[in-house]
Order: sequence, then structure tokens, then C-alpha cells
Amino acid sequence: MKSRIMRTLLCVLSLFSALAHAQAPTDGSVQNKEIPITVTEVAPGLFFQYHHQGSNNAWLVTDDGVLVIDTRQHPKHAEELLVAIRKTTDKPIKWVINTHAHGDHYFGNGVFKREGATFIAHRDTAGMMQSHLPIEMKRRQGFFKQTGFDPKEVQLILPDITFDTTATITLGGRTVALLYLGPGQNPVDTLVHFPKERVIFTGGPFSKDSWPNPSFTPSMSNWVVMLRKMAAMDVDKFLGGHGDIGNKQDVLNQAQMMSDFDAGLRDGVKKGMSREAIFKSEPFAKYKDVRNYFRMNLFINSYYHYLTTGKVENAYP
Ligand SMILES: [Zn+2]
Repeated sequence: MKSRIMRTLLCVLSLFSALAHAQAPTDGSVQNKEIPITVTEVAPGLFFQYHHQGSNNAWLVTDDGVLVIDTRQHPKHAEELLVAIRKTTDKPIKWVINTHAHGDHYFGNGVFKREGATFIAHRDTAGMMQSHLPIEMKRRQGFFKQTGFDPKEVQLILPDITFDTTATITLGGRTVALLYLGPGQNPVDTLVHFPKERVIFTGGPFSKDSWPNPSFTPSMSNWVVMLRKMAAMDVDKFLGGHGDIGNKQDVLNQAQMMSDFDAGLRDGVKKGMSREAIFKSEPFAKYKDVRNYFRMNLFINSYYHYLTTGKVENAYP
């Protein structure tokens, strides 16, 4: 009974999905279950903060300062991140990498600007941070309401340095490589590779045991290729922008899941099925235990829109 009510609710929601998608905190603020924030030292001096209900971060502590990846969804959350960093080091914050232009990964930038960090991102990520800001603010209103955080405190802090395909940062004798492997979850996703530590921070394209929001991708096929390329790298730990620490198999599982999602919806569209018929057939029920599955009808709706119109639902202007 409960599941029928849920299904009915989801169907009703789907009718308003465009509106709901724009207003709901679709990317990280409302999650399936409460799990406390954890910090793990994944390699000497390299820390990973996992926030199940929000977004993840990593930071590298060196003798010459600290490099931080992503800054969370609001300056208040960035302040908490800074407190967590300060429990591991008192060195100055030298670098911030913004992996992609979703507000839950860069709205805390202002706090780290104040700390004197130099910001780096892909050239197109920098452009999207500007062009997509109004949409990013709009789709996070639920998060601001839920937390009581003032959206006016979010400052747009753009990268000081941009790159096109790769960039290397050397800090305190440690090497950090920024990689762009074509579109993934977004037109641009930056992967941050720590070669010596055999760790990669993946930003948007990979989240362990979690359905990523597919409403931004201009190429599901490249996204799947990118995941398989990542899994083939000389890396042991995969740190997603959401979800816990993953291994190669987790990355391959996600590649398979996204590939199934792509094939399943293409098949439905080819058969002339309506959105509602696809919702009803629950084509991805075998992944129902994966985090964010409760948003499946929104995800189907987005990708159905892409397959039937050729246009990305949440396109970056
Ligand atoms: Zn996110």
C-alpha cells in the first residue's frame, strides 16, 4: 500500500517534474538516511571528508601549505570544512580546486578566498559558474530553507587560474594532476589525480552506490567511457563528489548502471513508450537499493527529454 502511494506520488510529481526539478534540492541536500560526516586519511597527508547528506571534499596537507578540493554548498558549511582541516594542520590554504559548476561544490568558495587561496578550475567550469549561477541558486532554495542558511551569503568566487586539458600543481614536493577527459556528468568535470598516493577525486562523474543526477550530461556514452578509463588507472581509491570511498569495482559498477540506464531508456523511446509507461515499467528496479533511487522518475524524465528532443534538460547556457 505504502509503495503504491509512493508510486502514485512519484507519478504526480513527475507531472510537475520540470518545476520540481528546478526547485527541489536535487543535488545533495536531501538524502535517504542520516549518516554522520567522517574524515579519513586515505594516504599520508591526504584527507577525505564524506558527507552523505551533502557533498564531499578532500585536502592535501604538505609542508608548504594545503590544497583543498571543492568547498561545499554554503559558506557556513565551508566554515565547518575549514574547522575540520584545522584539526589536521595549521598550514596556510594555498590552493582550491573546483571540480565542477554545481553549487553544492563551490558555494563555499568565499571562505577559502578569505584564507588567501588561489583558485583553479577548467576554463569552461569557470564560464559555467557564471552563466549557471541563477539556476544553481534557484535549484538550491530547498537546501537554504531546510538549513536556514542565507543564500545572500553565497559569493561567486571565480577561479584565478584556468586550464583546458591537464594541469599539474606541485606543492611541498607533492604532485597533483588535474585531468579533463571530456564530458561526464557535466559538459566539464575535472578529475584530481594524486599519482603517488594512487588516489583520484572524481567530482561529479562517480559516486559510490549512488545514482548521479543525469540531467546535465551532453554525452552519456562518454560518461561511461570516462568511468571505465578511471577504473583502468593506476589508482586504488576513488573519492566521489558524493558517496563514500570507492574502489575499481565500484567505478565499474557505476559504469554498468549508467550504461543500463542509457540502453533501457533508448529502448523505451524506440518502442514509442510514454514517460508514464516507462515510470510504470520500473526498468531500473534492480538498482532500487542504490542511493537516490527515490528520484528515479525525475532522472528518467530528464534523460527521456534528452533522447526525444536532443536537448539537455539542465543545459548550461
Ligand atoms: Zn553535487
